[in-house]
Amino acid sequence: MFEKILIANRGEIALRVARACRELGVRTVAVYSVADRDSAVVRQADEAVCIGPPEGRQSYRNAAAIVEAARRTGAQAVHPGYGFLSEDADFAEICADNGLVFIGPRPEVMQALGDKATARALMRDAGLPLPAGSLSTLDTAARAREVADEIGYPVIVKCAAGGGGRGMTVVRSAQEFASAYERTRITAQAVFGDDRVYVERYLTQARHVEVQVLCDGYGNGVHLGTRDCSVQRRHQKLVEEGPAPSLSAGTLDALAESALRGALRVGYSGAGTFEFLVDEAERFSFIEVNCRIQVEHPVTEMITGVDLVHEQLHVAAGVPLRLRQADVRISGVAVECRVNVEDPDRGFAPTPGRLTRFAPPSGPFTRVDTHGYPGYLVGPYYDSLLAKVLVWAPNRDLALARMERALHEFDVDGPGVRTTIPFLRRVLDDAGFRKGRYSTGLVDRLLGTAA
Ligand code: ADP
Repeated sequence: MFEKILIANRGEIALRVARACRELGVRTVAVYSVADRDSAVVRQADEAVCIGPPEGRQSYRNAAAIVEAARRTGAQAVHPGYGFLSEDADFAEICADNGLVFIGPRPEVMQALGDKATARALMRDAGLPLPAGSLSTLDTAARAREVADEIGYPVIVKCAAGGGGRGMTVVRSAQEFASAYERTRITAQAVFGDDRVYVERYLTQARHVEVQVLCDGYGNGVHLGTRDCSVQRRHQKLVEEGPAPSLSAGTLDALAESALRGALRVGYSGAGTFEFLVDEAERFSFIEVNCRIQVEHPVTEMITGVDLVHEQLHVAAGVPLRLRQADVRISGVAVECRVNVEDPDRGFAPTPGRLTRFAPPSGPFTRVDTHGYPGYLVGPYYDSLLAKVLVWAPNRDLALARMERALHEFDVDGPGVRTTIPFLRRVLDDAGFRKGRYSTGLVDRLLGTAA
């Protein structure tokens, strides 16, 4: 095991990684921007290094500053968390060049899977079903339009380099296609610095179901069950649960086996997530791989008892996978709600401010991952996730009752500060959600917005 690692992230995930390290006897270096000087991880970590001003580009995305902090403190490895540099193959390469272990898959695997069009082609070769669409990017509007006409509308134009729910446009008819294609390319260039796009069939009423895998790069791998993340606003997840409800055992197994087959095929190592869409007839198709720990990873931890960050660290240290498939047992149901500092009544606009009250829920089978504390200043610089509230129960009805209880307990306030809690409670109250029969259209239905 490593003696010391650097945590190249902030917020709740930095704290999550620091906790895993302490449990494993690994010393930690937190890096922080000027805006995060008073953050919980700075106090929790063994050492802390300021790496720059608040802007992400100059701090948490600043590879040179991070590598320099690792060199100065003698860290052997870098845990990138999620977001920021976590899926940046160039950063993984820079770490390797500087004698640092990047805790994630090999750079060439990240590069291949990080390009969503390449990932589609690779997974098609591994025998995974895909939504109908192109197997490479489409460089002219005319060619893209041909593909769209062939697939049939609605289609979705997606950036190859996209992520975080950005850079996707749903196109409902041939007339809308040309302008949607151009718009998506412009966004792709502006946001991701890469204007390549591809086209696939847009599946209405689909569910987002993903599979957690863990592999060691020596050819060993396991899957750790499914998570349903269909409760999304603008393609961003708000509520997640595992295992995915209302699917047959056969479908759940087939999803898990497909994901693991795909992972082993590309020589994946570390923790990864294979995302699929599932239609009403339980047909599934692959959409993308996330080469990092996910926000919603604790859902899987609660239904399997496996600490995914511990396993990431062991695999990165070169230890062969400690789990076999037969060791992985899915038990009960876990639900996660993302408490964001946003105003659901004003289009989910961020509402930064100081927390005058902050008392997260506790109690039976309840886990809260948060970097918040009373007096914490939520700044305007980073994403608005403040806390992840998780509950576990032997069955889904009790899990939902526990979640309602937990959200009821959550006491958070501050001048101008709003949270997504009221909206999360509306989701929990929804009849379709309660029955476990819902799709990615749920939030639009609740908000009365067009899908
Ligand atoms: P990102 O990498 O930005 O998260 P994804 O490819 O994972 O993008 O898609 C995010 C979400 O967008 C999905 O969970 C789903 O709700 C929606 N989506 C993506 N592709 C399709 C599709 N072909 N049909 C229907 N919905 C889709």
